[in-house]
Amino acid sequence: MSLAAVNLARWGEVPFITAWSSEEALPVRLVVRDGRIAYVDETARDRDGAGVLWTRMGFSPGVGVPRFKSVHSLRQRRAMHRLLCQVCGTPCGKSALWMLSREEYESAEGPWPAPVMTAHPPVCPGCVERSTRLCPHLRGGHVVLRARRVVPAAISGMLYKPTRDGLAPAAATIAHDDPRIRWLRAAQLHMELGDYDVIHHGHMIITGSGWRGTMGDRQGRP
Ligand SMILES: [Zn+2]
Repeated sequence: MSLAAVNLARWGEVPFITAWSSEEALPVRLVVRDGRIAYVDETARDRDGAGVLWTRMGFSPGVGVPRFKSVHSLRQRRAMHRLLCQVCGTPCGKSALWMLSREEYESAEGPWPAPVMTAHPPVCPGCVERSTRLCPHLRGGHVVLRARRVVPAAISGMLYKPTRDGLAPAAATIAHDDPRIRWLRAAQLHMELGDYDVIHHGHMIITGSGWRGTMGDRQGRP
């Protein structure tokens, strides 16, 4: 890929974790090796530090057209581990905010202060409003959280089951310490957010005492 082919200006308009048409999942051949799934031509880069096998995708952001419904696995994972803004890609550090859809927030064990799980990396304060416009899953109601505890909790991807006819895949999300992880071809990392404040709720009624109004105005501008 030549650098000239990369439309950097265009890339700047597209969320950091969005996959591009030039980054499709690469064809792979899976085998069972040492009691777990593996790529025939596996290299050290195919697994993370914990030995989890990750989906292979090309890396050429800005080339082709953005696939807004598709998340790039490696950028998603990096954004989670390094707290990079999922929209602009800059490190958020302690100012990381987490935007959860109504569905994600309400599927937690209970309202605040129960921990919540999300596959959506953080956003920086400057990208909150843009995210509300860009992300269709937030339009039906969302919350903005600031969490003091963020830990890897689960991984989603394709879970393979050995059968007489070969490996049978099924989409699954499993805990990151689930022993079945050796049969997973991982695609997205989910984090658990704990000890958090609800700092904004867009179009949602929050029950409990999570709404502290510590930041931002009614339009969600931090
Ligand atoms: Zn940002």
